[in-house]
Amino acid sequence: MRARDLGVGGQRVAVIAGIHGTEQEGLRHVPELVAMLALQPADIRLYEDVNPDGTAAHRRGTSAGVDPNRNWPASSFTAAQSRGPRPLSEPGVGHVYRDLVQFNPDLVVVLHSTSSGPFVNYDGPAEGLARRFAAAAGAPWFVKPSMGYATPGSLGSWMGRDRGQPILTLEFLRGSPPEQTGPALLAGLGAVIRDGPLEEEPPRVR
Ligand SMILES: [Zn+2]
Repeated sequence: MRARDLGVGGQRVAVIAGIHGTEQEGLRHVPELVAMLALQPADIRLYEDVNPDGTAAHRRGTSAGVDPNRNWPASSFTAAQSRGPRPLSEPGVGHVYRDLVQFNPDLVVVLHSTSSGPFVNYDGPAEGLARRFAAAAGAPWFVKPSMGYATPGSLGSWMGRDRGQPILTLEFLRGSPPEQTGPALLAGLGAVIRDGPLEEEPPRVR
């Protein structure tokens, strides 16, 4: 796990540039993220990749065939081949989990991609932040409050629903060129981090 501490102090923001090995649209912008986040009025921890083995192999899951976004200690976790025998069974997830607990972020942002993107999904009290991100990222970005399917053991379930912390799940359009994803990512993140304190909103009931 590679993590960098960036920013000039303030609210604690964790940014996870990659988690699914077949979704590397965000990962390629790590150098720009480092440069941009270094100047932000926040205490930022940038995690490069929860699943580096999967990234190297262009494989969604870990070497054990587990989805690293279904292996978190959420109350919704149930054991399955694709989710692991227990939460944190995957070393990469365990490392980031332990570090996240210690860092105790006020906001988590995690980067993915999907064929139905680009959109921003959220868990916990983050609806306003999601709107702010989408507005700054610009069209065709939109806010998608629910993924439309169950996500037991996901990072969003653990961080957002169980812990009540805001988390944004950014879904780039799969295969988008970097000249589209980069400016949207930097504009959206900048707006979320810079434009005043985080709003306090009641968690969305679903
Ligand atoms: Zn993903």
